Amino acid sequence: MRAESAGVVRRILCVFPRYTSSFGTFEYSYPLTDGVQAFMPPQGLLLIAAYLPENWPVRFIDENIRPATAEDFEWAEAVFVSGMHIQRHQMNDICRRAHAFDLPVAIGGPSVSACPDYYPSFDYLHVGELGDATDELIALLARDPSRPSRQVVLKTADRLDMTCFPLPAYELAELKRYFLGSIQYSSGCPYQCEFCDIPGLYGRNPRLKTPQQITAELDKLLECGIRGSVYFVDDNFIGNRKAALDLLPHLVEWQKKTGFILRFSCEATLNIAKRPEILAGMREAFFCTVFCGIETPDPVALKAMHKDHNMMVPIMEGIRTINSYGMEVVSGIILGLDTDKPETGAHLLEFIEASQIPLLTINLLQALPKTPLWDRLARENRLIEDEGLESNVVFRQPYDEVVDTWRKCMGVAYEPARVLKRYEYQIQNTAPNQVKRPAQKATRQNIKLGLTMLRNIFWKIGVLGDYKLEFWKFALRRLARGEIEHLIASMMVAHHLIMFARGASRGRQNASNYSMRLREASVPAE
Ligand code: SF4
Repeated sequence: MRAESAGVVRRILCVFPRYTSSFGTFEYSYPLTDGVQAFMPPQGLLLIAAYLPENWPVRFIDENIRPATAEDFEWAEAVFVSGMHIQRHQMNDICRRAHAFDLPVAIGGPSVSACPDYYPSFDYLHVGELGDATDELIALLARDPSRPSRQVVLKTADRLDMTCFPLPAYELAELKRYFLGSIQYSSGCPYQCEFCDIPGLYGRNPRLKTPQQITAELDKLLECGIRGSVYFVDDNFIGNRKAALDLLPHLVEWQKKTGFILRFSCEATLNIAKRPEILAGMREAFFCTVFCGIETPDPVALKAMHKDHNMMVPIMEGIRTINSYGMEVVSGIILGLDTDKPETGAHLLEFIEASQIPLLTINLLQALPKTPLWDRLARENRLIEDEGLESNVVFRQPYDEVVDTWRKCMGVAYEPARVLKRYEYQIQNTAPNQVKRPAQKATRQNIKLGLTMLRNIFWKIGVLGDYKLEFWKFALRRLARGEIEHLIASMMVAHHLIMFARGASRGRQNASNYSMRLREASVPAE
């Protein structure tokens, strides 16, 4: 479904802001690829681009790939921006540059929906999801493309049913430049973890697309050049378990049709381990990674943050169950919780060793607006506005000790030998449980891609790198066993983790993916 144009034409420039360097954006691994420059195509902005009236020309610029130029701004009649809190400064910067060309600028997406106050200079604030506010914005621009005399705030009261969503405009993005493909089946999560803004922003009753929309999107992603892996960005893939079960047979069929061309990954609560029927379907559909917000191995802390659902299965048993279906677990971890003690860091390192999870995003607690945590800390007078700090929370433990624990945990957990040992474990214990996909076609393009990545890995890590010994021990074992695919896939992630954690342990990286502390952005915009 698309919006109506009211008979006029407007040229819209959609600009996605740069990410600040973070643990989850993998930029250290881009030089190992054949030209990747950004993490994932932004779903929200590509959806809006597809929803605009059919006769409105749209340009999409991801500033992680290239900055919007004077020529882009001269071409446009209005600019649309979207992003997360961590991109706040970059979004305000895009607004400033667009205003230099006297263009009206609209902002939508999760950050402005939670915190309209962050964006005083924008002409239009689109608060909430795709819906009546979007139609109103389009109608206003159709009527008058000049900048309004004061800021206009449009709030979605009536959301567009996700079954009416158009296919995101993937054709506008250079999909080959992305580390991962992205796709969304559902929005919202039934749980209410204290720190999380998803239920407040997107509701507790997950809304859904149809399986047919998803397979059509996958077809389009392939046509537009995506390869390797596609990430389901749903807040919780099993937020509606029946819907997950409905979708999986369609994904299996799609994989069979295309020769299991893509690996899938998703985010889900750890209690997925109690659902063998879902895990079996995911295995058949070639899901290889599940991100679980484990947050902490401490049951007292889980209870305090209202994440009791993580205790429905003993954590270690849950991880092993997921591994037994061929899926590696990626874990979110939070430090700085009220329940943390001086020994929390040591316990976390023991947990990492025992679980053999290779990739854990270890963040310091950050209070996000529109969360129960924010409200509680505000009541307790424990919110800080100083953007020079690593978190906006007054911790129970001394600030320096908490930050020091985070740095030490990052430093130890991501020592090259330890990371590669955890990948070795996954290759030997999880990967053999994956569905055996048919041999992939040895096209000239595939061979060239594989050889390019191998050459980059050997040269940049094996020859020029500074953890050569650990690398070659790992690499030679892979080569001896003919595990080239595992070698490439593991090093694409491991190298970023090792390099990012090294900077983090020396105080050069943010201690939270959500931290507003502004560091040098990974790609300069101008
Ligand atoms: S389970 Fe995940 S998405 Fe749902 S409320 Fe908790 S942290 Fe948020």
